[in-house]
Amino acid sequence: MHQLTLAEIARGLADKKFSSEELTKTLLARIALLDPQLNSFISLTEDLALQQAKAADARRANGESGALLGAPIAHKDLFCTQGIRTSCGSKMLDNFKAPYDATVVAKLAAAGAVTLGKTNMDEFAMGSANESSYYGAVKNPWNLEHVPGGSSGGSAAAVAARLLPAATATDTGGSIRQPAAFTNLTGLKPTYGRVSRWGMIAYASSLDQGGPLARTAEDCAILLQGMAGFDPQDSTSIDEPVPDYSAGLNGSLQGLRIGVPKEYFSAGLDPRIAELIHNSVKELEKLGAVVKEISLPNMQHAIPAYYVIAPAEASSNLSRFDGVRFGHRCADPKNLEDLYKRSRGEGFGPEVQRRIMVGAYALSAGYYDAYYLKAQKIRRLVKNDFMAAFNEVDIILGPTTPNPAWKLGAKSSDPVAAYLEDVYTITANLAGLPGLSMPAGFVDGLPVGVQLLAPYFQEGRLLNVAHQYQLNTDWHTRTPTGF
Ligand code: GLN
Repeated sequence: MHQLTLAEIARGLADKKFSSEELTKTLLARIALLDPQLNSFISLTEDLALQQAKAADARRANGESGALLGAPIAHKDLFCTQGIRTSCGSKMLDNFKAPYDATVVAKLAAAGAVTLGKTNMDEFAMGSANESSYYGAVKNPWNLEHVPGGSSGGSAAAVAARLLPAATATDTGGSIRQPAAFTNLTGLKPTYGRVSRWGMIAYASSLDQGGPLARTAEDCAILLQGMAGFDPQDSTSIDEPVPDYSAGLNGSLQGLRIGVPKEYFSAGLDPRIAELIHNSVKELEKLGAVVKEISLPNMQHAIPAYYVIAPAEASSNLSRFDGVRFGHRCADPKNLEDLYKRSRGEGFGPEVQRRIMVGAYALSAGYYDAYYLKAQKIRRLVKNDFMAAFNEVDIILGPTTPNPAWKLGAKSSDPVAAYLEDVYTITANLAGLPGLSMPAGFVDGLPVGVQLLAPYFQEGRLLNVAHQYQLNTDWHTRTPTGF
């Protein structure tokens, strides 16, 4: 039963092959058995899960239907869940029980999804390896000595190990797409404003976007359908109709114009990954797509710009964790300053502290123009490059990451080395564009992802292309040994 996708689960439940309660119990038992090897969950919510599963079964018995009704999922631990610890992977929020549900959590619960637990993540979503979590590193089910990617490493490892079919995640600079690539999953970062950020603990507000992580594009369509839509509680949510993503999966790729940026194939890219990306292009050509070389000339400036903008916004967002209103408070503070200093010094880990310092510096008087303002100008150039490219092509295709998943610890003492691995993913966040990563093959037994980018609100196009690719390839069906 654990091998079933969301789409298969929906059919099985509709045909009464099994109940949501049976499925939920099976998966909870599997998590208890296998997750100690992976550490992909921070909290399990067994009682809530069983209660939701029974309620979903009762709704089905009453004649209700729906692709998510009774479907087991998990939430990245930065989506607020009422009465349940919402830690954001940080000691700072270790004792924080959210007083309300995030919009995404509430919408999925209303659609009948069953929450099995909260997944591990890099602290405050800062990282690309899930090693900065207060709750310990997550292991990659494809090779337990390697990282699963980050910051949504827990959601990715759990879905890849067949502990559950799909999970929510968030992407500020690649945290859905990069762990998808590292664990052989399909992950979609929607257009900025497509999915509500209300109750999603902020890292960098102008870049953060929630989205689905699953094994197939078909399942991403189902989960995104439950997450997307206008939310008046989020001032950057966009009031744009949500199409039926599942209904759009079967469009023909005949004549689809694919742009492959020449800058993507520079020296930093593992040549074995380059070859797999070229193979995926050939596969799409067989389905009728037309390929064209394009250029994104400002791509080289994106990493420095992102690593100014994201920490700048983080330094502001994280100022609320002061030991007074909520979060960790140090013992026996001598005075207010001591309270702030020690609460923050004890509550935040080293990567979060580094980013707060970088961000506060970039925003300070005298440096604002030189760093923050400059970075914002680059952000505009990056967006303009994409706008020009999308005048000529329908989607942009390239690698999701320059290298496969690295060994645990390999980059933990060199933050810049880890930042450089984000080169292909952060541009979509800077421009606010939707992006998808899907399985494209293996290098040394480790999964490789191919990334597709589309114009604003064309999530449906990405899912359609990925689904057609997955109907003609079997990379996404491969299962890690031992799981
Ligand atoms: N690796 C990037 C960072 O650390 C992206 C993280 C994310 O998307 N949350 O900022």
